[in-house]
Order: sequence, then structure tokens, then C-alpha cells
Amino acid sequence: MELQLYNVAPRVPKELKFLEELSNNIWWCWHPLAIEVLMRINPNLWRELSGNAKRFLREVPQSRLEELAHDPTYIRQLHAVQAEFERQIPAKDDLAARKVAYFSLEFGIHESIRIFSGGLGVLAGDHLKAASDLKLPMVAVGLLYRQGYFRQVLDRNGWQIEHYPVSEIHNLPVVRGCDPSGKPVTISIRLIDRELFAAVWVLWVGNVPLVLLDTELPQNPPDLREVTWRLYGGDKRMRLHQELLLGIGGFKALVAMGYEPAVCHMNEGHAGFLSLARIAHLVNDAGYEPDVALEIVWRSNVFTTHTPVPAGNEVFDINLVRPYLNTFAAEARLDVDRVIRWGIPIYDRDHASEMSMTVFGLRLANYSNGVSKLHGEVAREMWKHLWPQRSVAEIPIRHITNGVHIASWVSHRIWDLYEQYLTPKWAANPKMDALKEGIRELPDEELWMAHELCRQSLVRRARRLMQNNFRYMTDGAAPEVVTKRKSVLDPGILTIGFARRFATYKRGTLLLRNPQRLIALLKDKNHPVQFIFAGKAHPADDGGKRLIQELIQFAQRENVQDRLLFLENYDIGMARSLVQGVDVWLNTPRRPQEASGTSGMKAAVNGVINCSILDGWWAEAYNGENGWAIEGNDYYTEDEDRDNYECQELFNLLENDIIPCFYERSGGELPTRWIKRMKASITTGLGLFSSIRMVEDYQRMFYAPATEAYAKLTADNAEYAKGLVRQKEEYVKNFDGNLLHIEQPTVDRPLSDVHVGDTFQVTTRVHLAGLKPEEVEVDAYYGTVNAHNEIQTSIAVPMAMKQDLGDGNYVYGCEIECTFSGRFGLTARIKTGGTEWDNSVPGFMCWPR
Ligand SMILES: *Cc1c(COP(=O)(O)O)cnc(C)c1O
Repeated sequence: MELQLYNVAPRVPKELKFLEELSNNIWWCWHPLAIEVLMRINPNLWRELSGNAKRFLREVPQSRLEELAHDPTYIRQLHAVQAEFERQIPAKDDLAARKVAYFSLEFGIHESIRIFSGGLGVLAGDHLKAASDLKLPMVAVGLLYRQGYFRQVLDRNGWQIEHYPVSEIHNLPVVRGCDPSGKPVTISIRLIDRELFAAVWVLWVGNVPLVLLDTELPQNPPDLREVTWRLYGGDKRMRLHQELLLGIGGFKALVAMGYEPAVCHMNEGHAGFLSLARIAHLVNDAGYEPDVALEIVWRSNVFTTHTPVPAGNEVFDINLVRPYLNTFAAEARLDVDRVIRWGIPIYDRDHASEMSMTVFGLRLANYSNGVSKLHGEVAREMWKHLWPQRSVAEIPIRHITNGVHIASWVSHRIWDLYEQYLTPKWAANPKMDALKEGIRELPDEELWMAHELCRQSLVRRARRLMQNNFRYMTDGAAPEVVTKRKSVLDPGILTIGFARRFATYKRGTLLLRNPQRLIALLKDKNHPVQFIFAGKAHPADDGGKRLIQELIQFAQRENVQDRLLFLENYDIGMARSLVQGVDVWLNTPRRPQEASGTSGMKAAVNGVINCSILDGWWAEAYNGENGWAIEGNDYYTEDEDRDNYECQELFNLLENDIIPCFYERSGGELPTRWIKRMKASITTGLGLFSSIRMVEDYQRMFYAPATEAYAKLTADNAEYAKGLVRQKEEYVKNFDGNLLHIEQPTVDRPLSDVHVGDTFQVTTRVHLAGLKPEEVEVDAYYGTVNAHNEIQTSIAVPMAMKQDLGDGNYVYGCEIECTFSGRFGLTARIKTGGTEWDNSVPGFMCWPR
């Protein structure tokens, strides 16, 4: 039976017209007053629909809207929200001004928009919100999943089952993306012998348009319609289709809509293929040679790597990708083997069976970074083989530590306190001194009271969820047991939270290694402790699912279900409750596999105290006062030994420090020492780990210079880029052709007896073959050495050309001053002049042979 479908929505009275505009921009979700004007319409329905504002407005009774239209207080409040909205959001999109395009396979913006799976997506969502707050001219690109990531249900054995409820487009705050003439855009990309079509939608995240592609179209054969059904579902071919759609289709969509991005940011290797679309665009629409286009593209790309864990670094079988890349390489007038080689490590050139999207991304981005200080180091070590001639310190992968969008994560109660006591700009990367002063002034009683209310809300939410949803707790249980579930948890005791993906390296069951000690904590009458766990395991990860099951079965077996609870279906809404309501946020990764971790930052900005392995962000955030560090040990060769050791360390911390500190009430009702730590935690969170700080870092270090580079490269019919192509040919001939030569440098005094403050002259002879002195830099290269006589921290001092010996031979020299003591190594090198080639792969460098 063929049906004609239609919706009947309430007729929104003209006094409330703005509500429709508000529900069509997810901006409301990080503005407390906006949330209030929506929720006030019907709090129960609001909660039932998980804050899906669009659907909410479709379902509220007409009579309630009529009533509010005549309520002057409500209208006043609505006008205030409208004024703020109009102050922040321009009425018209300036397409040409949006120079930065941000590509990600997932975006976690709000629980009602299920196009994310976890940390990577939430980070991308927080990135857009901060960009909006900063009025940064950005446009973002992603996929509009109809089913998204799975909904987690736990069966009575505690085993995870994946459900895939379908999101209805008309309930999402999206509109069709149009071209400049107002016509809805549909793009297509060629998949070997078929065409994949995608409709283009736009989801407004405040100021930032998020362009979303959707393959649920009648033009597509059934298997291709599925491309945007599930996030991280399906096989490798499906994933390849998704990534081709994101990178190539996404870029085409931007162009079709009239955007002219100068900089493309790849959030993880998933978006890597966008480079092919960019090159093809410059070749076909601007008429540049492919090599000129390549210089423009890689010099204006940004790439962020998010994990050292192999499963997070996408690779594709070359036999799988080659037939696809044939088409896209041809569109960019590139040789397909050359394109594939961009994704293969140098050492593997001749034997590789896979191409790596991380390698592809690193090679095609002048600006790349890891997501914490420690992860930057780990990433440089991990990918140093791409630049075989350089020391680790000179590997051009930097770090920008992640941050969280404060307004999206701070509870309303705590928010009000901050508004009252902190420096006015407290949520927008404030000055540390002003922030500290305000936090000192926060009255202990008020802070503690607000936090206790958050804990109570969390317990209420957990109980509500428990009764309605949790099959594993109630299936087959007697009625009195079900009733007892109404009182799980205690709103007044020390509450420890652990919620994250259940991947083995995160060690969600670390505490279970010593069940006796754990049970003793859970059953302690005087100083009781409760744990709340949540998190999904990847559908294909039975190991992760077993960890969840172990936790649930442990609680059942030991009859501690009211003290150790597993909450089903971790998502953004639940994350918010947890990071606001627990007292301690626990994190136990095997170092250094947690690249950053962001949930701990969300906890910190709420005054929740972190207890974590010194990994990811915590390695740079922990200062001895703002939380606890689980003393890890990197030297174990067996995971088993290390896990046991770190488990005992964690119990020591809990028993000796954390629990006594929480229950110490010597000065009356308040845990004064605890509150001091809460304040230190807040200072760290607000001061260093906001997404505003993060996006400002990206802007300063990457977006601004890349935008400038793009303008310079494309000016005057790309004269500058063409010059670089010619220069590259010369460098390739001379450096890679081994025509250059440099001698080990000599010095003017015996180095057996030098002291701090001494200076000496360094001299070397070079042969520059076809290059001129102004095209190269000759460095004295020295630094302290380790036991293997490898330079640890290197110093490069450019040498001056002292003498032209003819036939391309020169003498170079400089003075070196001994500024600090140690055992040193000294050599010299030739590199390219200037900085234009410093980040190129593998780069041009010549050392004494
Ligand atoms: C913040 C967040 C994450 C990421 O937290 P990690 O500390 O990186 O594990 C994952 N899922 C949700 C729903 C989040 O809100």
C-alpha cells in the first residue's frame, strides 16, 4: 500500500514564532536560558524526548502554546533569548568568508542528534561550538547517519546487544543545503562503475553550518543507500564508501553550495580523501597542473591524529582501494600508484599490501598534531619513519591539547555560582590570575551544596533509568527485587564514576583484580563508597563486551548491586549527569595509549576530582593538588604484571587518601580539604582545558598561517606555487640524487677540555652540486647524547658561507658557545633554505656520509 505521508504540527502563535527558529539551530543546547524557555513549555515531554527541540515543538499541545502566548513573563524571557540569539548569529551566511572547513566522520553535539559514537565525535562537536562562540568563519562536513551508532541494551546476563533505532529526518534540526541560486544540492561520486548520490543537509551549530551528506535516496541502489545508515557499521568496503563520501563528496558539496574553503582540517585519517577532491577542483576549475595543485593543497591542510592504538588508525587493503582510486586519481590527473604511495610508509614502499589513512593525512598536511603534550611525543616517535633523516624532536607533528566546551558540560547550578563569583570571561579561556582569584572567593558552603545537589540529581536519574530500562537488573526478578531497585545508590556518599568506551586498554575492570579489597570498600559501613560505570563496547569487540559482563556479574554475585551500578547506553546526556554528579572521576588506561581523554576535563570544570593514570591530558594537568595520580609503571613487559601493580596502587590511593579526605569533617559539616581540591580541579579545568583555548590554538598555530599560505599560493595564477614546484624538482635532483656532499665538521680547539662559557669555531666543506648557497641552509648540528651516542635534544645553528671554492664547493663556518654542561655530539647537515620544506615528507636533508 502506497501512503502519502504528511505531518501536522501545532500552529505556533505569532508571539512565539521565534521558538521555531530556535528549534532549528542547536545553539539552544549550550545556552541555559534557551533551554529553560523550551523546557518550561512542558518539562515532562521535554525529558521524554531527550531534549529533541524540533520534535518537542511538533508534539506539544496547541492549547499550551496558546496559553504561553498570553503569559507576559514567558514572552519577556523568550525575547531575552531571541535578543541574545540575534546578537550572536548573523542573519545571512557569508559563504566566501568561511575559509576553514572541518571534516569529521562523527559529530557529538547533543544526545538527540545521534551521529557520533564517542570521544572523537564529542570533541568535534565541542570544536564547532567553540568556533561558533569565537565567531570563527568555519564550515564543517560530516555524514547524516539514519541509524547512527548503536543503542546499547544489556540482556539479563549482562551481555551487550546492539539496537539501531532510526532517526527521522523531520525530527532533526536540519534543512536542505542549497546552491547560491537556492536550489537544493545533491552531489554524486563515482564508485568504480556506479554513481553514489547524496542529498546535502545543513545543521546549524550556532554560527557554524555543519554540512551533512545523506545517501538515503531513490537514485541509489539499496546497498548504496546504506552508506549513511550506521556509524562504524558494516565491513571495510562500507567504511571505504563512507570515507570517500566524506572526503570527496563532502568537498564537492561545499563547492556546489558556494563555499570556497582555503584550509581543510582532517579530524583523523577518515577524512583523508578530501585532498584528492581539492586537487581535482584546482586542476579542473582553476586550470592548474596537478603538481601545482598538490603544492597548494598539502600546504593548506591540517591533520589531527587522535590515537596511537592501531584500531584507530585506519588502513585499507590496496587491492580494495585501487579500483576506486583509479577514478579519483584520474579526475585529479594523478597517477593512481603515486596516490596510493602517499599512504604507504617509506620503508614499506615495495611490499606494502595496505595504505594507511594516517600516513596519507600526515603526508598531505603541512600542519599536523597530536591531542596532548604526551600524545605529541608518542605520535612523533610512532610516525618518525616518515622522516627517516630527522631526529625525533624535529618530526613535524606538534600538539594541541584537547579541550571541552564549558557551557555544554557545566551543570546549571555550578554555572550560576561561577557567574556570580568568577571573572566575567570565566568560560572563555580566562586569564589564570583573575580566574584563581574568583575561585578563591567561591564560598565553600555554596560550592559544596551545589555539588551535592548534582550528586542527588545523578542518583535520581540512575534510579529512574534502572526501573524503566534495565533488563539485566529486572528481567525475571521478583516484584520485591524490582521495588528494591528503586533505592539503588545512596545520594549522600562518596561516588566514583567511570564511563568510557570498553576497550581493553582502558581497563574498565581494573578494580576487579582484587575483589576482596573492592568488596571491603563497597560494604564499609562508616565510610561507604559507590561506583557508577557506563560505556559501550564496539559491536565487534567481544573482549570489551566481556568486561562489561564481568562488572555486572560481579555486582550480582557479591550482592553489591546498590553500590556498584552499570548504567546502560552511555551517551552525551548521561555523560553530562555523570561528570556533574560524581565526586571522583576515575581513569585507568594503559599508558601511553590514551591520547588525551576529555571526560576528565568535563569532570574538572564541575569541581569533580580526577583520579587517573598519568596518561593523555592528565600527564600535563596533574599538579599534586588538583586530584590524584595513580602511580603507573611503564617498565613492565607483561600487561598482567603491570595491571596488578597499578590495581594495588589504585586501592592504596582510595583507602589512604581519597576516602579519608572525603569523610574528613573536622571543621564541621564541610569536607574542607576535599573542597580545596575541588577548587584546584576547577582552576585546572577552566584555566587550561576549554575548547575555546583549543580552537584559539588551532586558529593561531594552524588556521591563520594556512589561510595566509593559501592566499599566497593561489595569487597571480599560482605563481608562487609554480615556483615551489620548480624548486622541488631541483631539490629532488640534488638531495635525493645524492649529488650533495658535506664533510664532518672540524673545530679550532681540542674538544677534550671545554667548559661552560667556552666557545669554538666549527668549519665544514660542502658540495652543493646544482644548488646555490641561497637555496640551502648548512647547519652545525649538536646536542647532548645518550648511552648509545644518539643526540637527545638537538640544536641546529645555521652556518655562514665563508668561502666559495668554485665548482659548487664551499666552506661554511660558525661559532658554538658551550652554554651548559653534559656529554655532547657534533655534526653538520645541509637542508633546504627557509622553512617552506620543513614539514614535507620525507624532507630534504644531507648528512656527512
Ligand atoms: C566526553 C565523552 C567521551 C570521551 O571521553 P573519554 O574520556 O575520552 O573516554 C565519550 N563518550 C561520551 C558520550 C562523552 O561525552
